[in-house]
Amino acid sequence: MAMQIQTGTSELKDVTKMERIGAHSHIRGLGLDDRLEPRQNSQGLVGQAKARKAAGMILKMVQEGKIAGRAMLFAGPPSTGKTAIAMGMAQSLGQDVPFTMIAASEVFSLSMSKTEALTQAFRRSIGVRIKEETELIEGQVVEIQIDRSLTGATKTGKLTIKTTDMETVYDLGTKMIESLTKEKVLAGDVIAIDKTSGKVTKLGRSVAMSRDYDAMGADTKFVQCPEGEIQKRKEVIHTVSLHEIDVINSRTQGFLALFAGDTGEIKPELRAQINTKVADWREEGKAEVVPGVLFIDEVHMLDIECFSFLNRALESELSPLVVMASNRGMARIRGTKYKSPHGLPVDLLDRVLIVSTKPYEEEDIQQIIQIRCQEEDVSLTPDALTVLTSMSKQTTLRYALNLISCGRVLARKRKSENVDVEDLRRAYTYFMDEKRSVQWLKEQQGTLVFEEVGVEGRKDEVMDTD
Ligand code: ATP
Repeated sequence: MAMQIQTGTSELKDVTKMERIGAHSHIRGLGLDDRLEPRQNSQGLVGQAKARKAAGMILKMVQEGKIAGRAMLFAGPPSTGKTAIAMGMAQSLGQDVPFTMIAASEVFSLSMSKTEALTQAFRRSIGVRIKEETELIEGQVVEIQIDRSLTGATKTGKLTIKTTDMETVYDLGTKMIESLTKEKVLAGDVIAIDKTSGKVTKLGRSVAMSRDYDAMGADTKFVQCPEGEIQKRKEVIHTVSLHEIDVINSRTQGFLALFAGDTGEIKPELRAQINTKVADWREEGKAEVVPGVLFIDEVHMLDIECFSFLNRALESELSPLVVMASNRGMARIRGTKYKSPHGLPVDLLDRVLIVSTKPYEEEDIQQIIQIRCQEEDVSLTPDALTVLTSMSKQTTLRYALNLISCGRVLARKRKSENVDVEDLRRAYTYFMDEKRSVQWLKEQQGTLVFEEVGVEGRKDEVMDTD
């Protein structure tokens, strides 16, 4: 098969990891020691020892490449750290091990089918570590010609470089021209060019030619450049996800779709070709497959078709570790009239490692609040910390954590740097927690516009989500 599969590594920065700020930005890892024992308060995670240890064990198997096509489920009440622990797992994976996070409801998008959305999430979570040989050329620039007559994104030109025994002329593409422009390369500069990535690095100016350049800035570096250059071959390793390879090779999409996030549907034939190619690369020792982690939050929001897809996809050789989270007890499986634990069909549950999370003790809550205060750069008075901890017990941890920044705004209004009990009390009156909101709704019966439950044609929806 003469198919040329592009990995796009020269065009793109790896996008397998994304920095997230927000609710979980204080989490830097799972906080385990070398024997995978959880420390009480470490790397932003507090308590929940059993679940963290279980996550650590699974993670170790992923890192050793021993586990693929497996699934685990974090099951527990709201705000008990299911997502937080999954984030801790993500932080502890190696730099090039992909971690993808989706909320189950994202699968129900209008732009693609449910199974396509899940397939993309699966393939985002599989890395391909590719070894490529690249040529590095170091030499002195004799001449640069750029064709300015071309408009638009495409640029061409020629670069003449002096090497020990000859002058070589290179054809320039858009990427290399951009790189030369960015580095402000002029004739006389000594540069290094990575032929695979097109990256140009300015090393300095040759002493031999620098005399001709009076106008050089004070920061110009002079390099003792012996007439010519060195040619080297080096091995570079980069990891891209299977999904990125799919998109780059999809004629209808092109690699720019990766930035827009609007990748549309990808043809199954193309995926089959890519799988074959990756298998060939593996055999030739050119590539390694790195199964990563796919985290599906609120997994009970998937429906029966998605669950049967998951069952099948987990059997594939190219499957990541699937980590799921649910805060449901017995719940209806969407798309059916049957109830099941956590809203997951029993055949799927049967193949899943279930890890439970429990509500926090007072001491844990206090420590989590303190960590969040540090993260948000807020200082609480000792009394305010006690009050917020007890508020968290009466409401939810998430609600209490939300009050930290509200408290700060109120403290600043009264020109204080410290959030005190009074600020929290006021924030508590401004913002309702879930229990008070339900109570308020009951009191407002008749004044709000209520959705009519049980109207013909809506029965299925009501049944699915209740
Ligand atoms: P839900 O079922 O509602 O989705 P959840 O179990 O996924 O809840 P999280 O979102 O992980 O709960 O936790 C709520 C907040 O508390 C987050 O900001 C999270 O980072 C923080 N948090 C929870 N557990 C811990 C912990 N053990 N250590 C530090 N922070 C935590």
